[in-house]
Amino acid sequence: MSLAANAVPNDLEAFWMPFTANRQFKKAPRMFVGARDMHYTTSDGRQVLDGTAGLWCVNAGHCRPRITEAIQHQAAELDYAPAFQMGHPKAFELANRLVDLTPKGLDHVLFTNSGSESVETALKVALAYHRAKGDGSRFRLIGRERGYHGVNFGGISVGGIVANRKMFGTLLTGVDHMPHTHDPGRNAFTMGEPEHGADLADALERIVTLHDPSTIAAVIVEPVAGSTGVLIPPKGYLQKLRDITLKHGILLIFDEVITGFGRLGTPFAADYFGVTPDIMVTAKGLTNGVIPMGAVMVSSEIHDAFMNGPEHLIEFFHGYTYSGNPIASAAALATLETYKEEGLLTRGTELAGYWGEALHSLRDKPHVIDIRNLGLVGAIELEPKAGQPTQRAFSAFLAAYEAGLLIRTTGDIIALSPPLILERQHIDEIVDTLSRILASLE
Ligand code: PMP
Repeated sequence: MSLAANAVPNDLEAFWMPFTANRQFKKAPRMFVGARDMHYTTSDGRQVLDGTAGLWCVNAGHCRPRITEAIQHQAAELDYAPAFQMGHPKAFELANRLVDLTPKGLDHVLFTNSGSESVETALKVALAYHRAKGDGSRFRLIGRERGYHGVNFGGISVGGIVANRKMFGTLLTGVDHMPHTHDPGRNAFTMGEPEHGADLADALERIVTLHDPSTIAAVIVEPVAGSTGVLIPPKGYLQKLRDITLKHGILLIFDEVITGFGRLGTPFAADYFGVTPDIMVTAKGLTNGVIPMGAVMVSSEIHDAFMNGPEHLIEFFHGYTYSGNPIASAAALATLETYKEEGLLTRGTELAGYWGEALHSLRDKPHVIDIRNLGLVGAIELEPKAGQPTQRAFSAFLAAYEAGLLIRTTGDIIALSPPLILERQHIDEIVDTLSRILASLE
């Protein structure tokens, strides 16, 4: 690409950037103009090691030729096909591949264009499923504090992040939240799954009793809550949620937008924890982040309730202009092929030990109050600066960027989720850079 095409525009005002402190950013912009494998290139020509797989999505690393070529080829052959009442082969092929890859029983796929849309789709499928079975009294949804399920109205309703909810009025009614599972008091510096806290799942039983089970449609959780700081579920917690939901005929939805496609060293978190939900929400790693696409996997039981239901249910009144878009489907197929050929969906298992040891070597650095890891995801929690919450981690983010490392921060937590192609030397580099930065943080 020519230099001119990559030149940073003089006027940055028009683009209202998402989840960004726009006024600060535009005074001192940070821009990427290129990427390859484990690295970004900045507009001032520096290499930055990608410690976050973009936004938890570029699992196979950047600008992989197979994916690029698949997109180019598809764009030249069939650019778009109507998504309703028409099809094209690649969407069907992709659906079959996903059914093969996801846990047994999740046998049908609805395509979307993002994690947020996947969440909305999953919630609507859950509500409609009960109606299809003639059980329309099940209208309640249960999420969790500190849960992130995208930014649309259903997602922020079941989500548990105050800042994402408070400007937007009443949201969905009939939603309850279970407590989150983060307990640094008992579980600080745990490697892998924390010992304490499976009993937090009992909150679900209490909510169910309060409202009566016959009113509850679904429970949605991220198996590992990512966006609020990599909160790893205590041993046995997800199984307990599964047991309680099964007992009461409530659907369990796993939001695997982050945990899907190898992040934990297994294809999905459902595989890692040995707990299969009724609906699984995916996006991000499905196309290596390259083209917007999400997929919602549903059980045969749910699918068949619609297919065998009353005649007016012959159609599920939901879908997007770009559901199963040909170019996105081609990108996803090439991505899945890359994961398979390079063994990336289980690479986290090989590297998890080294990754965990390396991260935990930072435990004695100033201000560090917790470190946690699982598969190829990790977090370093810092003590907030008095009167200036989030500042300490954000300073670390800026310093890391200057030092050539991309990290992500949420509150005073540094989150790490590198591309799954990383080598030990990259882990060493991430930890060395963080070690220096943490040592000099005020
Ligand atoms: N669910 C989870 C668990 C996520 O992490 C995200 C994005 N970080 C979303 C949903 C929303 O995905 P998107 O930004 O693609 O809408």
